[in-house]
Amino acid sequence: MSEKLYTMVAGGALEANSTFNVRCNCGGNAPITPESVAGYGYSKKGGPTKIVDRLETKCLNCNTGIVVSVLEGDPGYVLTKHGNKEMLFLPQGSTSKPVAELTVGEHEAIIQEMKKNMPDE
Ligand SMILES: [Zn+2]
Repeated sequence: MSEKLYTMVAGGALEANSTFNVRCNCGGNAPITPESVAGYGYSKKGGPTKIVDRLETKCLNCNTGIVVSVLEGDPGYVLTKHGNKEMLFLPQGSTSKPVAELTVGEHEAIIQEMKKNMPDE
């Protein structure tokens, strides 16, 4: 039994005529072909980040199944929670600075900014 990987991709990075390679944890690539994306047409702007498509691909190197959530446009960072720790995740293909290159201060500032825009629970 093999574990599946879950990742997110910025829809804006998917171009109509080219294949996008999702990076696997092993360093290999898992291709998303234009034909495999059902929800093409990222026309709507604004509002909360929407998942416009969910598809599955396979790493060409290790054969791990990868479930990809395609986000609308290039939404930048996504806030995730691991236990009590809040972390930023950057969808693959985004033009924003990789999370690993952010300073602790930048990381914190982005999280605070995101929280301001969140509706109260
Ligand atoms: Zn792999």
